[in-house]
Amino acid sequence: MTSPSRSPRVSHVRIEPDGVHLAWDDGHGSHFRHRYLRGNCPCAVCVVEGTNQRVVFEKDVPEDVYAADWMQVGQYGVQLLWSDTHMTGIFTFDYLRNLCPCARHGGEVPPEEAEQRR
Ligand SMILES: [Zn+2]
Ligand SMILES: [Zn+2]
Repeated sequence: MTSPSRSPRVSHVRIEPDGVHLAWDDGHGSHFRHRYLRGNCPCAVCVVEGTNQRVVFEKDVPEDVYAADWMQVGQYGVQLLWSDTHMTGIFTFDYLRNLCPCARHGGEVPPEEAEQRR
């Protein structure tokens, strides 16, 4: 992969009780609820290859699911081990950036924050 403008990379992953926190090398920070991230797993079990149709959604995974561990995958992503033993998903940095729930990146807005922004 050689793209002229290097996209931001995750510099640090922190797993907290309330979710997965990512620090980016451009200074940005992302916070994903565990279940939200699990429900957006990009692996071949959760998304049908070829058609790109998602078959596993947030509502399909345990309510109390959480990321138990993570590891870096090359220079392009992280792999997460989930409490429901799912671990096939590789979350690329680009994908995580698109999922970022903050106001700037327009991913999912947590209900309580959506309330405040009105
Ligand atoms: Zn998956
Ligand atoms: Zn963001």
